[in-house]
Amino acid sequence: MSLDAAWARRWIELSAAEIAEQRDYLVDLDRAIGDGDHGENMDRGFKAAVEALEQTQPGSVAEVLKTVAKTLMSTVGGAAGPLYGTAFLRASKAAGDGDLDGAGVAAVIAGALDGIQARGKATTGEKTMVDAWTPALEAARAAVESGSDPAAVLEAAATAAEAGAAATEPMRATKGRASYLGERSIGHLDPGAVSTSLILRAAARAAGEVGAA
Ligand code: ADP
Ligand code: MG
Repeated sequence: MSLDAAWARRWIELSAAEIAEQRDYLVDLDRAIGDGDHGENMDRGFKAAVEALEQTQPGSVAEVLKTVAKTLMSTVGGAAGPLYGTAFLRASKAAGDGDLDGAGVAAVIAGALDGIQARGKATTGEKTMVDAWTPALEAARAAVESGSDPAAVLEAAATAAEAGAAATEPMRATKGRASYLGERSIGHLDPGAVSTSLILRAAARAAGEVGAA
């Protein structure tokens, strides 16, 4: 089993649907420790990404991810726009020319995390989306080591991202807008870590559909 452009397009469609559904939740999370725009920004960006993919019909995983990157950069705004934009751009480069096997999936996640850290300079424990992407990458690599197929690699990554997002609650933010709150950022989930977990869960669901087809 390998993951192709159809999977990548489905990933973005399912991400857009999930983000639309969780839009108000993401707004509430960002209102608690930020300015409340994360849900709206992400909803706008992923809707635009789905539209761009419908119009351009890219034929490879890398081309899909590149289109998403460009669209998110120009539509999301805030901190998350350039962060997710760079994530998808590096993920696109990491995807190479063909379809993805398990190691390819791990490489794409590694590319995304690289991009986010190149942009935002955050490390783990700073209460950002890095706290979801980092355990996702670790879990993906472990799954590859144990011989998992791409769908199982994504399943492991999504589950680890959800745990990583949950683990941001007791953290004090030291990067991004939430860091202005200092101690008062403690006791809330990081919105970007939560949106990351939605996006990675969507990737796993899309792969599950491919596997079931
Ligand atoms: P803004 O803070 O400009 O309103 P958003 O609300 O769209 O932007 O996004 C906020 C999210 O961006 C945070 O929840 C966090 O996950 C992420 N973030 C902010 N700064 C950084 C950074 N330096 N590195 C990684 N992620 C960051
Ligand atoms: Mg915000």
